[in-house]
Amino acid sequence: MYRFEPNLRIPGPTHLPPSVREAGGRQMINHRGPEFAALLARIDRRMRVFFGTQQEVLLITAAGTGGLEAAIVNALSPADRVLAVPTGAFGDRFAKIASVYGAEVTRLETEWGRAADPAALRAHLTADADYRAVLLTHNETSTGVTNPIAALAAMVRELAPEALILVDGVSALGAVPFEMDAWGLDVVVTGSQKAWMAAPGMSMIALSERAWLAADEARMPRFYFDLRDARKTAANGQTPWTPAVAVMYQVDAGLELMEAETPARVFTRHAACAAATRAGLEALGFRLLADPAFASNTVTAAWIPEDLDWKAFNGEVKARQVVLAGGQGKLKGKIFRVGHLGAVNLDDILGAIGVLEEVARVFGRPAEPGAAVAAAQRAVLAAVEARPAAAEGVPA
Ligand SMILES: *Cc1c(COP(=O)(O)O)cnc(C)c1O
Repeated sequence: MYRFEPNLRIPGPTHLPPSVREAGGRQMINHRGPEFAALLARIDRRMRVFFGTQQEVLLITAAGTGGLEAAIVNALSPADRVLAVPTGAFGDRFAKIASVYGAEVTRLETEWGRAADPAALRAHLTADADYRAVLLTHNETSTGVTNPIAALAAMVRELAPEALILVDGVSALGAVPFEMDAWGLDVVVTGSQKAWMAAPGMSMIALSERAWLAADEARMPRFYFDLRDARKTAANGQTPWTPAVAVMYQVDAGLELMEAETPARVFTRHAACAAATRAGLEALGFRLLADPAFASNTVTAAWIPEDLDWKAFNGEVKARQVVLAGGQGKLKGKIFRVGHLGAVNLDDILGAIGVLEEVARVFGRPAEPGAAVAAAQRAVLAAVEARPAAAEGVPA
């Protein structure tokens, strides 16, 4: 099988469109000069649309995890009571960062594969609402579940009005509608290598007015991640430290594409690719992990059947240039994941499903040629019919 490059179906890093790749190779500029200030301002302006905020979106040179750490250390003090609502490996990580810095973390658990339940959160907060912050994961990349952030946040606002709401939005911001201000969120974090079609290296973060007040009182140690410095220098068109300028060029180029496509069409494209992925995998006999009502539009996780030698199967898939992701944490070796975010089109998904179908036949599993691809295409049509207003956004 020959392709110019592999079909990278992991939930980040994601493929770079040609203009983004070129942007990454551009000459350096003075990061204390006017061109840089314009770059920073452009990224901020375009990011706000996808965050759904009037607040400025700050850029920090770090992996998404660095952005999560920045969220914690700028909002909290040691011994603060924090309610973590983990729904998978990334929610666990967010909780871990808070406890490493000395927060007193209580966990409201959810079975992996299910979404955090607003009713369970209500019950918990009714009994105990004395929290400085609540940690939520927007899209849990390890399970392929998108949590109902608006409903969860509304519950916190009602029952623990003093608590800050910190959201890991790393793997779906930019791919699905998001309204930081309208949902009353206090800190939201995302990362360049997920839906933003750029290389890893930058984390984007926005804080509410309340969160900025909290940042002045927070006593967790911080230096590199002190967002008060980032805010002060951003006012002068700069970052406190030398940033990953090349990745910023890429984020800027990616946002230019997303703006031209329009957010509505970006979201519909992701919804269509997700519907196709789910239907294609199910038609191949794979059982999906996520509760269908909260299935993610950016990543799909499926159980590895007990009678399938996954290593051999995935080897054949890789030989056909389709790159899938494995499971994380306690799901390692139990599931595989298909990323469908960023620069993804329906043909990427149909191609991947076609390859899985071919390999399934190699492994003697029942697969009628073309059936899974047809199921994927039918699912896209159904998704379009369900949302006629967005139909024109479906990729050709
Ligand atoms: C990818 C991801 C992260 C971590 O990002 P890194 O850049 O790998 O540190 C955090 N949370 C979620 C939900 C993610 O998908």
